[in-house]
Amino acid sequence: LSEKLQNAFDKLKGKGKLSEDDVKAALREVKLALLEADVNYKVVKGFISKIEERAVGHEVLDSLTPAQQVIKIVNEELTDLMGGTQSKISFASNPPTVIMMAGLQGAGKTTTVGKLAKQLKNQGKNPLLVAGDIYRPAAIKQLQVLGDRLDQPVFSMGDKQSPVDIAKAAINNAESNGHDVVIIDTAGRLHIDEELMDELKQIKSEVIPHEILLVVDAMTGQDAVNVAEEFDDALGVDGVVLTKLDGDARGGAALSISSVTGKPIKFVGTGEKLDNLEPFHPDRMSSRILGMGDVLSLIEKAEEQMDEERAKELEQKLREKKFTLEDFLDQLEQVRNMGPLDEILGMIPGAGKQLKNLNMDEKQLDYIEAIINSMTIEERRNPEIINGSRRRRIAAGSGTSVQQVNRLLKQFKQTKKMMDQLGDAQKGMAGKLKGK
Ligand code: GDP
Ligand code: MG
Repeated sequence: LSEKLQNAFDKLKGKGKLSEDDVKAALREVKLALLEADVNYKVVKGFISKIEERAVGHEVLDSLTPAQQVIKIVNEELTDLMGGTQSKISFASNPPTVIMMAGLQGAGKTTTVGKLAKQLKNQGKNPLLVAGDIYRPAAIKQLQVLGDRLDQPVFSMGDKQSPVDIAKAAINNAESNGHDVVIIDTAGRLHIDEELMDELKQIKSEVIPHEILLVVDAMTGQDAVNVAEEFDDALGVDGVVLTKLDGDARGGAALSISSVTGKPIKFVGTGEKLDNLEPFHPDRMSSRILGMGDVLSLIEKAEEQMDEERAKELEQKLREKKFTLEDFLDQLEQVRNMGPLDEILGMIPGAGKQLKNLNMDEKQLDYIEAIINSMTIEERRNPEIINGSRRRRIAAGSGTSVQQVNRLLKQFKQTKKMMDQLGDAQKGMAGKLKGK
């Protein structure tokens, strides 16, 4: 998808001013790209005509070139299409908050119960996990394993009681044991059928959950959209969890689901591990689809935090590949003000893998600062000259070990490599944004 859109924009880049025909031609390619990504046809049609209206119409800003304008509009509309702003779980004013999962078999409900419980626990909540899938043989055990791993209790009554009775008893249990959140796992089927829906509806009417989260598998593409529509029509859902986005799922599902159901995607599943649940950010997803990684949000964040002069200097250095240890330190400090390091670096396209090796602990920044401060200016600018005896001197001077100095130099080398790549990417971006 991204590559296709990229091509469409590349064609726009060469132009100073855009005619109506140019916009139309570009949007034709955007349309094809979206359809190819498995986006619902009706959604695409509405999307394209909305953009055409805006792009060809009156909305012209002096500060932007026509190409920038189209990118901005496509980006805004894609974001809008996916629900606009990020939406969260709404907690009951009178706990416990009851969250109920729904979805087809294998969509990832049980796994998501565990992931969600982990997140809530990290936020200081005390969730009770409820084993409400009494049909799939190993479902109860599966949830118990997750509960054990999280050290959170799992409420189960075996497979002899009805899911409705289990859910009701679980809420009583939560009330008497001080659980402020109850997460009910439910059964799925291979296909939607009346029995399944009736059971879910019955739970819904008896326990009145605060949140019904529909779990859908992104890998199923257009089917996921149909499933979401049917569940929402029959049961009514409050939000969607889109799982398996780590696979080679096409982005189409994310684009269509909220548009078709009018319900927000609240989380995305990005792997099988308990940590692999992320809040869904429509704006980030949109820029990712536009093939710019999270460059747009990175730029925004950077603009907020970095004073312009320094940003310009850095940009110049990135272009000339003159990134030094002094800049490294400077950057680390600025980045420290922006938020968690891994989150920031994770926004740089292609930085994900390198990031894992970087393993930068915020607490280490103090050491890094001490080490760099113990270097001569010459060493900061040409780290290649830092040989064994210099390493020993720097370690002694900074109160660290030679290993720590080595680790820093290795981190710097990796970061420099990444920055150089980013420099190249920025040249492309800058060109695109200036419409050159
Ligand atoms: P349920 O039938 O809806 O309860 O689905 P499960 O929670 O049992 O998950 C079915 C399978 O999908 C399991 O093998 C999970 O590990 C896997 N799974 C769930 N979520 C994700 C995800 O976000 N990414 C990947 N790769 N696998 C997932
Ligand atoms: Mg299950």
